Amino acid sequence: MSSRTSDCLEEEDGEEEEEEENYNPTEVKMSQIVMPCHSNHRQELSVGQLLKWMDSAACLSAERHAGSPCVTASMDDIHFEHTISVGQVVNIRAKVNRAFNTSMEVGIQVNCEDLFSDRHWRVCHAYATFVTQRTSTGQKVNTFGGQIMAWMVNVATIAASRLSQAHPTLRAIDMFTFRGPSQVGDRLLLKAIVNNAFRNSMEVGVRAEAYHEEGPNRHINSAFMTFEVLDDGGKPRTLPRIRPEPLEGQRRFQEATARKKIRLDRKYIISRTQGEVPLSVPWDPTNQVYLSFNNVSALKMLAARSSWRLSCEKDQVQLYTLEQKSMLSFKIECEVDVPAHRAFDLLAELSNRPSWDSHYKKCELIQLVDNDDFIYRVVTPSVRHGAMGSPTAANQAKGILQDFILLASKRKPCGSGDPYVIALRSVSLPTHPPTEGYNRGEVLCAGFTILETKDNKSLISYFNQASPEVLPYISTDIAGLSSSFYHTFCSCSQYLTRNRL
Ligand code: ADP
Repeated sequence: MSSRTSDCLEEEDGEEEEEEENYNPTEVKMSQIVMPCHSNHRQELSVGQLLKWMDSAACLSAERHAGSPCVTASMDDIHFEHTISVGQVVNIRAKVNRAFNTSMEVGIQVNCEDLFSDRHWRVCHAYATFVTQRTSTGQKVNTFGGQIMAWMVNVATIAASRLSQAHPTLRAIDMFTFRGPSQVGDRLLLKAIVNNAFRNSMEVGVRAEAYHEEGPNRHINSAFMTFEVLDDGGKPRTLPRIRPEPLEGQRRFQEATARKKIRLDRKYIISRTQGEVPLSVPWDPTNQVYLSFNNVSALKMLAARSSWRLSCEKDQVQLYTLEQKSMLSFKIECEVDVPAHRAFDLLAELSNRPSWDSHYKKCELIQLVDNDDFIYRVVTPSVRHGAMGSPTAANQAKGILQDFILLASKRKPCGSGDPYVIALRSVSLPTHPPTEGYNRGEVLCAGFTILETKDNKSLISYFNQASPEVLPYISTDIAGLSSSFYHTFCSCSQYLTRNRL
């Protein structure tokens, strides 16, 4: 084990006092400067090397707690938010969060530091589980888990490069679970293939097996990794589609699509619930001007973001996504043959929405604030886990409902080239507390922009910063498992054309 600790530095970095008070004796800090030998073709730290460092720091922390040698049992999903360049410093902190009889959960935080600008930023965080290793004389030494993970990343990168004929960037890894040990003297066999290529990302699966002399192959680990290919501007390139092999290839192709949805749901629902930021603002009539102004400007700011990416398209209806820190937003856009001012009047009449949007079971006006601002109560089927932890589909089947209290603010354009705006956000009203039989849903920012286009048509865009209550609907579409966005939008466009006069 001593070789693992040799590259681990104790770092003095002006810790805040309160952290000193909560000093955890298992905490391990490691700093590494990224050298060319650690980097990939883009002069960025290779993920394999980073995993080795993360595993070393975490293992040392587990061993400090256990007082005996430990091995990696699993490492949770990791999303890489940033890459790290040669010359920058990687700071890794690992500490035991919880300990059970023979296993421990270690939290790992990875930050990057730019020495010249003194900037620090978060690269990723992960949770790993370590188990204590029973030592008996004559037992073989286990291969270091971080090394196996690094090799798995290498073969996955080769598979991804072959499909894209470019150098791919690893964005996320699904949980690594070690099924058994591999020991010094074993031969390792690593197999990787692209299971599915989506528009901007691909899923590569890797399987690691070990064998010893004549013995059978033992399954050591399997992992699924998401890669992108970035262009010179750092934007993901469109990838070639794959034609899966019959049987196994077909099965993996479909499973990769299902995993894409699960990944989106897990990443964004988990990050939102962990933050526990209330999404509703209390409704206060004396503050109405600000609340309405902020409602509209939040939607305009969301619409103006430059990193919207086309996720799928069907018959001119486009579904875009925008990933920001812990939020996933989506936009559905299409041109309709209805004048913009008319589309605006029709869409602003939120109480008509149940006639075209099957998710809206009910929509009642509860307060007319002024000519441009309204408060509605909207009822939709619930997608949230019920009190008994019942899953989403079962909730819908059981007819569990959720309600939203929404402030709707509509604004006409100030000048030519400006869109009409209908902004929606949740507010809390003392007269309408959450009631029995309804899960209270919340919307941070949603709504329509309507832009006049040539020939008296309009470009309609619907935005939603997906909260846990809406995410499961749309992640099914984003993953390509359904196209309900398309059907809803068609229904909206029919409603507009039917009432265009
Ligand atoms: P599954 O096949 O159910 O996905 P496995 O654990 O067998 O689960 O394999 C994990 C991943 O490893 C697969 O999804 C695939 O991407 C890759 N893989 C497995 N076997 C092979 C193989 N013979 N050649 C190339 N890649 C493979």
